[in-house]
Amino acid sequence: KRAEEQASAHHPAITRDGVRIEVVANIGGLDEAVQGVQLGSEGVGLLRSEFLYLERTDAPTEAEQSQIYTDIAKALGTERTLVIRTLDVGGDKPLPYLPLPAEENPFLGVRGIRLCLAAPEILRTQLRAILRAAPFARLHIMFPMIASLDEVREAKAILAEEKAALGVTAEIKFGIMVEVPSTAVMSEIFAREVDFFSIGTNDLTQYTLAMDRGHPKLAKQADALHPGVLRLIAMTVKGAHAQGKWVGVCGGIASDPLAVPVLLGIGVDELSVSVPAIPSIKALVRKLNRADCLKLANEVLQLGTATEVRARLAALAD
Ligand code: PEP
Ligand code: MG
Repeated sequence: KRAEEQASAHHPAITRDGVRIEVVANIGGLDEAVQGVQLGSEGVGLLRSEFLYLERTDAPTEAEQSQIYTDIAKALGTERTLVIRTLDVGGDKPLPYLPLPAEENPFLGVRGIRLCLAAPEILRTQLRAILRAAPFARLHIMFPMIASLDEVREAKAILAEEKAALGVTAEIKFGIMVEVPSTAVMSEIFAREVDFFSIGTNDLTQYTLAMDRGHPKLAKQADALHPGVLRLIAMTVKGAHAQGKWVGVCGGIASDPLAVPVLLGIGVDELSVSVPAIPSIKALVRKLNRADCLKLANEVLQLGTATEVRARLAALAD
């Protein structure tokens, strides 16, 4: 089975009834970009740029960052999409060079895009570094933890300013992560102002179920296959498609073989998965029929608990 997966790793992932699903990688640096390409990834759906910022005493410079983005872009080539997520840290992942007040609830505090808009020089430096890599990449920029349209507009305005200042004229797609339930609910409204969505099911689950994603006692219950989370994913897709925009999933659920048929049934266009999962997820997509997945999704969206959803999907996988 493994050998079969490896042999077809570089072919596209098309369902039996002819629906192409982009299978791309979640990466945290250049090494994973290279490994992803070797394993047949069709691009990068999520570059977690935090690795450039953590475990150091000063902020990474524009030149330093732009070198790394350019190296990653070159590893992918201009045929593959590169989605760079801007810095996503906050009270739970402090930066020594960016003093932040202690927060009672860091997951509900100044994190993700909120932090970047509160410290715009950090964001501007990062955007300039990303823009300098534009000639080498099929570049997409994505903003994390979006909770309001004001944040989208502010981030877009800053990007436009930096683009103009650098004289970059290439078209760069602008997307947001859907990780906050209100953003999922309002997806059609957001979709008017962005090019694409990527659903971060790790955070979306945490915020939907009000369960800390790292809590040892809640790990089992904080399940992205909870029907409440699946319904929000479905709402996101519906709103995006109504505006002709595409939707990816980059949370851990995209790498879960049990979840993939449901995600396809809901209408997700792209799966951004952990690097080692690329060949097996592509192979799985090729075995599925989207029309059947649609029926399955309609069925599980009517269930009441994550346990029921898992039981139904496990029965199918047998
Ligand atoms: C997510 O929240 O699902 C996600 C992909 O982002 P991260 O895990 O980096 O928070
Ligand atoms: Mg997240």
